[in-house]
Amino acid sequence: MNVPLWQMKKLMADIGHKIWIKGFCAGNEGNHSLRLDDHRVLCTPTGISKGFLDPDDMCIVDMEGKQIEQNPRGRKRTSEVLVHLAIYKKRPDVKAVIHSHPPHATAFCIAGIPLPSGIHPEAEVFLGKVPTAPYATPSKQELPDSITPLIGPETNTVLMGNHGSVTFSTDLVDCYYKLEILDAYCRILLLSKQVGHINELSPSQMTELLQVKQKFGMKDPRLACASTGCVTEDNQPFLATFDDRPATASCDCDGGPVTAASVPSGNLDNAAFEQMVQAITDQIMAARK
Ligand SMILES: [Zn+2]
Repeated sequence: MNVPLWQMKKLMADIGHKIWIKGFCAGNEGNHSLRLDDHRVLCTPTGISKGFLDPDDMCIVDMEGKQIEQNPRGRKRTSEVLVHLAIYKKRPDVKAVIHSHPPHATAFCIAGIPLPSGIHPEAEVFLGKVPTAPYATPSKQELPDSITPLIGPETNTVLMGNHGSVTFSTDLVDCYYKLEILDAYCRILLLSKQVGHINELSPSQMTELLQVKQKFGMKDPRLACASTGCVTEDNQPFLATFDDRPATASCDCDGGPVTAASVPSGNLDNAAFEQMVQAITDQIMAARK
């Protein structure tokens, strides 16, 4: 059944609103698109918040990025449409692309730390291996050029160095789900690091999980080597983060005001905790005098 164009434009606006509500794009950041047929792509306009999109704001471009239909509101297509088109050209099965700046996932891009794998079942099943492209200047051809070599037949998410993410799928709603899962996974990773040790799934647990994934109809090339531990082989840079923190956090106990900056971060050992409690107590006593 062919979905009417107005319905696709409305879906584009609705997805934009979800992206904005979730805080994945601030200001006018981000863009998304939907493949209409072999020659045309519906995409978001430049310069408009994803939270305030109207169906009539959507633009139609050809596979080279040329706007081929007059937009009723005079909107111009997003300057990042080249990224979307490069993905559509490389992967004929892809029908929708979302480029976004989800904060937790973007933190990994900026820190230059590859996204770890073999930790959370949902991320493994719905995202799989997420590669990171080197930084490239936005709106230049070098940006799609940096991403496309990393896109294999089963890839659906790529992080962009110092920039953000791109997710792609056979439909726009699923594409949005991948974006949500990506940022939730990164948030969970960062929280887990704050709480304590990160436990990786074992090679046998990963093998079993990827077999289940395959049963669901989702191929994952890592199944062939999961039993040898290949899934978690890139985890070290992330697992090593925070290791340079001092074992015993020092406390600003010189009588100055206790501020968030003077409270030790990370895991507190007993001595540091006692120091912090003492500093707060001193502060309260001083205020009563
Ligand atoms: Zn961007």
